[in-house]
Amino acid sequence: MSTASPVPVLPGNDETGALDRVRALESEYLLQTYARYPLVLDRGKGCYVFDPSGKRYLDFITGIGVNALGHAHPRLVKVIREQAGRLLHSSNLYYNAYQGPLAERLAKASGLQRTFFCNSGAESMEGALKMVRAHGRKIHPDKYETVALHNSFHGRTFGALSITGQEKYRLDFEPLLPGARFVPPNDEVALEQVVSDRTAGIVIELIQGEGGIFPMSTEYVRKARELADRYDALLVFDEIQCGVGRVGRHFAYQLSDPIVLPDVMVAAKPLACGIPLGVIIANERAAKSIGPGMHGSTFGGGPLACRVAIEFMDILDGLLPHIENMGRYFRAQLHDLQRKFSFIREVRGQGLMIGVELSFPGKQLVLDAIEQGLLINCTHDTVLRFLPPYIATEKEIDRAVGILKRVFKLASKRADVHPGDVHQN
Ligand SMILES: *Cc1c(COP(=O)(O)O)cnc(C)c1O
Repeated sequence: MSTASPVPVLPGNDETGALDRVRALESEYLLQTYARYPLVLDRGKGCYVFDPSGKRYLDFITGIGVNALGHAHPRLVKVIREQAGRLLHSSNLYYNAYQGPLAERLAKASGLQRTFFCNSGAESMEGALKMVRAHGRKIHPDKYETVALHNSFHGRTFGALSITGQEKYRLDFEPLLPGARFVPPNDEVALEQVVSDRTAGIVIELIQGEGGIFPMSTEYVRKARELADRYDALLVFDEIQCGVGRVGRHFAYQLSDPIVLPDVMVAAKPLACGIPLGVIIANERAAKSIGPGMHGSTFGGGPLACRVAIEFMDILDGLLPHIENMGRYFRAQLHDLQRKFSFIREVRGQGLMIGVELSFPGKQLVLDAIEQGLLINCTHDTVLRFLPPYIATEKEIDRAVGILKRVFKLASKRADVHPGDVHQN
């Protein structure tokens, strides 16, 4: 568990009082935007992270689906070291050697054609929304509506927020972008009623992540494709959380048979395994909406991020069947737990994107899991979310399930807190 490199003298990086000191500084100097779990993370290796005292945690949330190859993956460490000594940044004034090859890889993996590089999920969604607007405007000035789904999450910037179908994120910032129309997910009739000649785009998360791991049905997605074609709107898939291998395919839309292709797709989280990188990938029809000078990014597509993403894509090709198998294995174990603990309402997900819906808020269970050495989180109040690293094996999954069993037992004993919810069998 010891590392060769000396630990920098950060506040709280010794064994005692680390958390208190970090917290004190943050509470004085940070914008108070986050309700963090009481844990300082110091380093990671493989599927594990460590706090400053050296305590080990199995990381089954991976920085919200970002550390796809776990921590300190030797091949990524190697290319990051090499590239850091060669060229970190050059802007988009010039070419670098990595954007073209990465875009080619993404085109082959996605079935779409052209990529734009940026730095985060929300930023990629912003760009996609600009494409939607520009596409509509070329047809008619009144064609600017974007249809999005209740319970969706697309990011914190103004455009992305405007089409995020959860009031709690939007309310403080209204009025937002005009033209957002929300419909309930998986309701083909509602979708048909709202899509019209004024629709410039339809935006869908194929598996709603922040919304609680809710999948869209193939029929629904097919209907969206049909309506987008009928009204000359762009179909946009937000694959920021469910894309780039997470569900055992390169992209979540590849799970359906036959595959329903979007016009535009955005991806980000796992793409460069922790180096910020977002992408918009578009077919030729959608790509035509954006011409020279209409969009850009200073940092986007830098040589470091792109090179890491190429290395990741190389590794990912061989990992896809493993992701699917491990997802199936993990879900089977979770279903076993569901039979033992009646407060588990449902186990949902695909590949290594899994949600466990409880009949009560999950916050305390997440805290208990941390205590027991397992990192997960809770989304949509009652859904425990698991986004394990793609390199997780049955051994790690068994360990996580063992910890979960203890955590669920603790919850059963707290039945007085949730009368009627537990101890039903
Ligand atoms: C995380 C996420 C975003 C926002 O990404 P950021 O990198 O946090 O801006 C957008 N859409 C979905 C589906 C996400 O999961």
